[in-house]
Amino acid sequence: MRLRNIPRAEDTLQAHFTVIKNPKELRGNWSSVFENTHPIRIEIGMGKGRFLLNMAKTYPNINFIGIERYSSVLLRAVEKFDTDEFADLKNIRFVCMDARELPEVFAESEIEQIYLNFSDPWPKARHAKRRLTSTEFLARYEKVLPPQGLVEFKTDNTPLFDFSLEQVKEAGWTLQAFTYDLHHNAELNHGNIMTEYEEKFSSKGNPINKLIAIRK
Ligand code: SAM
Repeated sequence: MRLRNIPRAEDTLQAHFTVIKNPKELRGNWSSVFENTHPIRIEIGMGKGRFLLNMAKTYPNINFIGIERYSSVLLRAVEKFDTDEFADLKNIRFVCMDARELPEVFAESEIEQIYLNFSDPWPKARHAKRRLTSTEFLARYEKVLPPQGLVEFKTDNTPLFDFSLEQVKEAGWTLQAFTYDLHHNAELNHGNIMTEYEEKFSSKGNPINKLIAIRK
């Protein structure tokens, strides 16, 4: 997702306390941002923020960081934070960055869990390394998650989902659970919080796939 360039985006993000401007300087010290030692979970490719803002509201004793590559998209999440529904949240921050830089921003085991929702499919084979569930990205996640740390991934794109199942295996990780129809799987759908894309695609009748993978 890339929205048209919004001239005010940079200024608004710079001025907003939820947006971390110096993420690499906080490596190993992210708890100081939240002023507590609660576990930290991240969503990579957060988009407009619906999922993560609702997670933060539902789980006040967990800290959440939303990572999004484009400032024009991140602006939407920050604007959503500023509404009555979310403005009081103390346990969420945002970073505008490419997830390839993850190990430069977070120290070993600093992140308890990673969420990937409706990640870009990069359908061309030559772009497979850019998929957020490729072995290349799983190796980056190994540098920030503890052993047994979890990655949860949802998508309506079944070729990308099948690719992801294979990559998890190839990386030597363990599949804790998976389904090709999340919304009709009572166990995995329990407490499910929908993303913007999930709402859009499931309302068109597309089944939603989900996997939970355990770091080796
Ligand atoms: N997660 C949201 C949802 O489910 O509604 C947004 C899904 S959208 C298809 C994917 C988002 O991931 C886009 O906003 C894109 O800019 C972001 N993204 C893709 N690759 C990224 C990367 N390497 N680092 C950070 N963000 C990325």
